[in-house]
Amino acid sequence: MRYCIGIDLGGTNIAGGLADLDGRLLLTDSVPTGLPCTADAIADRIAMLCRAMVQKAGFALEDAAWVGVGAPGSVDTATGTVLYANNLEFHNTPLAELLTRRLGRPVFVDNDANAAAWGEYCAGAGKGSRSMVMVTLGTGVGGGVVLDGRILTGCNGAAAELGHFVIQQDGLECNCGLRGCFEQYGSVTALIRQARDAMAAHPESALWQLAGGDAANVNGRVVFDAARSGDATACQVVDTYIGYLCVGVTSIINIFQPEILCIGGGISRQGDLLIQPLRAYNAAHGYSRGTGPQTNVVAARLFGDAGIIGAALLGKTIN
Ligand SMILES: [Zn+2]
Repeated sequence: MRYCIGIDLGGTNIAGGLADLDGRLLLTDSVPTGLPCTADAIADRIAMLCRAMVQKAGFALEDAAWVGVGAPGSVDTATGTVLYANNLEFHNTPLAELLTRRLGRPVFVDNDANAAAWGEYCAGAGKGSRSMVMVTLGTGVGGGVVLDGRILTGCNGAAAELGHFVIQQDGLECNCGLRGCFEQYGSVTALIRQARDAMAAHPESALWQLAGGDAANVNGRVVFDAARSGDATACQVVDTYIGYLCVGVTSIINIFQPEILCIGGGISRQGDLLIQPLRAYNAAHGYSRGTGPQTNVVAARLFGDAGIIGAALLGKTIN
């Protein structure tokens, strides 16, 4: 059968999967990235992982339509070159070429967040739509923009940095060098910081019990669980946090007016508690409110598999 291979290249692990051409995963596996090491060593590990998965599935490598890789950093997708990836120490690394040499298959490379968005667009929350923007909430805020079947790369492979537009002038310092970026207010890291600040002011909050008495144990799920149980402090934290998300997400919708705005990251499992306010805010305050078709705000569907599935489908064209 015809299938494709997807690789999600991270600083700690290289995750891979075999998928059919519709993005249904047949098999996944992973190996440690093994940093610090050279780009050649990483290419060797990726090739080894591909061969191991193909063998396990009983396929022939020759039947792989292509290999797709989602890599951190900015990527020249035309050549499959990783222009810069800080944690891998890649500088103008011709990753597609290194892998084609080893595997003898066509290789496509894109930024990992773009690949995850592509996965949701082709096989998840955006399936069947013309345009989709994915906003991924995690340690930071990332995302991808797919318009009319094409991933928006920008002139330099660095487009769709959806965490780094400013929502608060002279606001919190961001690791990109600016102040007041959306990421500093809308990431899960920001939610946790907001929760810890509230806990310090509210020793009576149920957040303390749920965190086992130690604010270091607070994570996104703990905050939402406490809010669901009716804890006033947690409700306030969630309201404030979602307020930031509303402002950021509606700003993104105002710019792209995509058919689908998909919220990714583990926190998207919170479902309506998270998604419903975003919809309501956009319906009330979005630029296009009350006129014509409206962006549908939804939770991601592929969760942790989006990166691998999207990478696997990088060779796919959608018209
Ligand atoms: Zn920033």
